[in-house]
Amino acid sequence: LSQEFTLKSKGVRAERFYAVKDVSFSIRRGEVLAIVGESGCGKSTMARSVLQMPRPTHGEVWFRGVDLASLRGKQLQQAMQGIQVVFQDPFASLDPRKRVVDLVAEPLDLQGVDSKDRRAHRVEEVLASVGLDIAVHGHRRPRELSGGQCQRVAIARAIIASPSLVICDEPVASLDVSVQAQILNIFEDLRTELGLAYMFITHNLAVAHHLGDRIAVIYLGRLCEVGESDAIYRAPMHPYSAALLSSIPDAQGASEQIRLLGDPASPVRPPSGCRFHTRCPRKEEVCSTIEPQLQEIQPDRWVACHFPLFPEGVTKASIATHQPAPEPDVTEAVGLTSVDPDVMN
Ligand code: SF4
Repeated sequence: LSQEFTLKSKGVRAERFYAVKDVSFSIRRGEVLAIVGESGCGKSTMARSVLQMPRPTHGEVWFRGVDLASLRGKQLQQAMQGIQVVFQDPFASLDPRKRVVDLVAEPLDLQGVDSKDRRAHRVEEVLASVGLDIAVHGHRRPRELSGGQCQRVAIARAIIASPSLVICDEPVASLDVSVQAQILNIFEDLRTELGLAYMFITHNLAVAHHLGDRIAVIYLGRLCEVGESDAIYRAPMHPYSAALLSSIPDAQGASEQIRLLGDPASPVRPPSGCRFHTRCPRKEEVCSTIEPQLQEIQPDRWVACHFPLFPEGVTKASIATHQPAPEPDVTEAVGLTSVDPDVMN
């Protein structure tokens, strides 16, 4: 998946650049994939590309056996009902003129649920599942709610359509610290209750570890490391993941403390070779000329680095025999009879 944009400024020639380049990942049914990286690294662009907002410049987004990027109009609208989104700013994502009950019921229109009783019952049910009382909050407008309550409304609105995937774009970043834990708990409870899968975008590795089954670390539009959440948190193998972990005061088990050098480079003119080399304390000459590719260096552990950090007892030689898993056969997945319903690509 790649997403290219044009940067236009007055008096300067327009420049094309990739906000996200050649990223590939999958989310299984009921799984939480946490996407972690600093501001401006392309993680929200990745989420929006999955939502076709805008459609990716290159690549495919497979969901329930269909490439969303190939659909248009009503077909796309129908396929997208299985995917809902919760944005960072709950006030901006809700129509300020509407009452809570109407905001939450809106997605039911797309599903053709027109029985008044069924709508009212469903709204009451989902509001209760996010800790809101319809009698108290149902007739308020967004400005009459706190930030945490607004985010609960946004979550209720996302789950009322019974999606199987919810894209959460920094859903707690704009909330008070005291409210963040409550909202994260709601996400956890709903996942268990409804079997939801999340693509959970965050800049906080501790939050990613808390919620995620797997973590994907992204830097300047490229994936650096993808793997099981505990494994990355215990012993990150990419220097950037290690730097994110080193910045968490009470994080356990960082095998090596890595301090970032300088500021992030511009995604418009990314550094040559490894995009992280201008900030990496482990860089060697080759890093500035040859871009490392994402490789599966342990089962389900993908790292893009010429000199990864190996956990104690693991050496390059001891993993050299591991053969990367073959790429999924996309042409086979097109045939509806051969689609694995447990995998959403
Ligand atoms: Fe650092 Fe080189 Fe690895 Fe990039 S490839 S993360 S610069 S060691």
